[in-house]
Amino acid sequence: MGNDLFRKILEKAEIVNEPLNYDVVVIGGGIAGIEAALDLAEMDYKVLLVEKETTVGGKMLLLSKVFPTLDCASCISTPKMAAAAHHPNIELWTYSEVTSIDVKGRGDFEVTVLKKPRFVNDALCTGCGKCEDVCPVVIPRELDYGLRGRKAAYIPFDTAVPKITVVDVDNCIFCGQCERVCPAGAIDFTQKPKIYRVKTHALIITTGYRLFPAERKESYGYGKVPNVITAMQMERLLSPTRPFNSVLRPSDGKEPSSIGYVLCVGSRDKTVGNPRCSQVCCMYSIKQAQLILGAVPLADVTIYCMDIRAYGKGFEEFYQKAKAMGVRFVRSRVAKIEGLPNGNVKVIYEDIDDGKVKSAEHDLVVLSVGLLPSSNDVVSIIHGAKLTVDALGFIITDPSAPTQTNIEGIFAAGCATGPKDIPDTILEAASAAARCAAYLRLLKQERMTTVEVVSDGEK
Ligand code: SF4
Ligand code: SF4
Repeated sequence: MGNDLFRKILEKAEIVNEPLNYDVVVIGGGIAGIEAALDLAEMDYKVLLVEKETTVGGKMLLLSKVFPTLDCASCISTPKMAAAAHHPNIELWTYSEVTSIDVKGRGDFEVTVLKKPRFVNDALCTGCGKCEDVCPVVIPRELDYGLRGRKAAYIPFDTAVPKITVVDVDNCIFCGQCERVCPAGAIDFTQKPKIYRVKTHALIITTGYRLFPAERKESYGYGKVPNVITAMQMERLLSPTRPFNSVLRPSDGKEPSSIGYVLCVGSRDKTVGNPRCSQVCCMYSIKQAQLILGAVPLADVTIYCMDIRAYGKGFEEFYQKAKAMGVRFVRSRVAKIEGLPNGNVKVIYEDIDDGKVKSAEHDLVVLSVGLLPSSNDVVSIIHGAKLTVDALGFIITDPSAPTQTNIEGIFAAGCATGPKDIPDTILEAASAAARCAAYLRLLKQERMTTVEVVSDGEK
């Protein structure tokens, strides 16, 4: 059905003329944006946190556990999500997009934000899920990367913040069942998108990353060979909110007894235009291998890698633990991945240690895809100054002030500036908030001094 109806609705957005004022606008409600917003709010600054998806939490919300501690990812992220939603100094706008940023002068930005309609009155919706139960439409659920379905009226996650239904009008058949069953009378198909003007003194860009599209590495068969999945799909199979409560392969629901991981898919690979290391793929693959051995104790896990980059605190020990648990590491370059008639997957690789071309058969193959920037979208919407980014599109920051971009008053943190793990993301977000606060204080002092000088001159 495509997405034509929703696009047409967005074209008819109402413009709200009265501008809104905030000290800081944070763009992106993943863990970095939430951390930066909370830190600034605690310092008494008024923050607008804008997230384009229907819930805050970003990709961390989808993860099972974090490395190398194996702490539960949602146990870290959900309290922060709730804290951001309830903080009196934070205005949280989900399902909203920053469409332009005008740099007007020092500490003077005008931001345009599009609030998309959920077709549900968020003041009335209690998140009871009755509309979702009766909705007859089922389509692949984006947050599970197609592993299971969702309805046209749906709540993105049990732990979504805010926990409010959204109606996907592009797939809705307008049967009216959700309207009839909703006890709160919250379904509202007359909702319109709105465009707001927001004045702010500073911005923090925390737009995160997007995963390398695995189908671009054609020789690895993703999208054609059914039992080749990405590591994010495996993450969903392993997570507490997992679709099947088990690790099952997609083609036939069989529990795999032999799983192969291929590292550096879309990273350190000039053939796909990304020569850089994505920094997290080695460790998230080792983490998943350990979790698989917990979920499917008799499984064999083989990791095909050029090398293992275990550079962080506790990473080397985590790697050694995986080896001790029986995970096999094969130093190799994988040339091709093929599907076999029995549903199994053949991995053809060059063994780096002896230079020979070999092959191996697995029930399931997982592609450990790399990270690409999402910040490209932001670059094109800034007017009055040009945000500098590197060849891949990650935001360049000042080496002596690592969260300061080339535009005064605009800061960046998390994977918007380059691939990094969760602790480094949170650390960088806290640093961006601190620098932003120092900048706002300086700005306020300067403006007060100017006012005093003007009033002295008037005496
Ligand atoms: S829209 Fe109505 S039925 Fe659906 S979750 Fe909200 S209150 Fe419940
Ligand atoms: S009107 Fe649309 S969203 Fe509501 S139940 Fe019918 S198909 Fe689902």
